[in-house]
Amino acid sequence: MAKSILSEEQFQNEEAAFEYVEARLWPQGPVCPSCGATDEHVGALKGKTTRLGLRKCYACNAQFTVRIGTIFEGSHLPLHLWLQVIHLMCASKKGISTRQIQRMLSCSMKTAWFLTHRIREAMQDGGLEPLGGAGKVLEADSTYIGGKEKNKHVGKRDAANIGGMGKAVVHAIVERNGRVRAHHIPKVSRENLRPILNTHADRASALMTDAAGEYRLLGREFASHETVNHQADEYVRGEVHSNTVEGYFSVLKRGLTGTYHSVSEAHLHRYLAEFSFRYSNREKLGVNDVARTDLALEGFKGKRLTYRTTSGERGAALS
Ligand SMILES: [Zn+2]
Repeated sequence: MAKSILSEEQFQNEEAAFEYVEARLWPQGPVCPSCGATDEHVGALKGKTTRLGLRKCYACNAQFTVRIGTIFEGSHLPLHLWLQVIHLMCASKKGISTRQIQRMLSCSMKTAWFLTHRIREAMQDGGLEPLGGAGKVLEADSTYIGGKEKNKHVGKRDAANIGGMGKAVVHAIVERNGRVRAHHIPKVSRENLRPILNTHADRASALMTDAAGEYRLLGREFASHETVNHQADEYVRGEVHSNTVEGYFSVLKRGLTGTYHSVSEAHLHRYLAEFSFRYSNREKLGVNDVARTDLALEGFKGKRLTYRTTSGERGAALS
């Protein structure tokens, strides 16, 4: 599936890769990252020894390429290889392992690890507007990642008590037929859920959750709040269910265990960004693999990550 598309020019040829990225990051033409100059104030530097894509700003004398000010800055990896990795991460529903990237690029594990984490970090949903709204349905729920198999199906209350046993709690809000926001939280409590709902859930929405007590008071602030009682084996009552958010969790879990095996808690938020990006831009919402890759690229603007940002957390390596 991915093979045929990877034969396209931008994945194979460095010049084509620059053109592809420039067209998406500079739809109006080059922009000087130092002073913001455009149009006739920016010229292309050409010559046999000139770096590919090099521009010169006549307003401030800066020289730059489209890589500056993005996650590509400070990386020696050719842009066409970056594009391959980004495409594979955007197109693989359950993610793609660091080992697979390492083999594909014949690079070190360390390089593969930095690349994928930079991309994940940049996939973070920058939108500040809350999900939902009048006439829309939000489903909220939390789940436990990692920990022992025998603990996977325990009820929420019990699980909260064993939260210290290596299980990470992920909370997600999904707008039906829309986007998702997922967060790694220390434990399910009203104190932890309130700020998330405040920021990410429009109070004019209809809220659907399970019967977890933490939602009881918070739910009153919404246009409506209905619950299904999972502990009493109730999962669907007409329109009242949390199957959508469960669906998100199931892809997340299959990806985290199947592709990434185990993820340290320090990095969980980056994997959530990756899975949420794909979910929020999924096929069902009319976004295909190519469009999703382009959306990722557009999101990389202003997302320069320094070497220090990623290397500082290297101690907590993926296992
Ligand atoms: Zn300039």
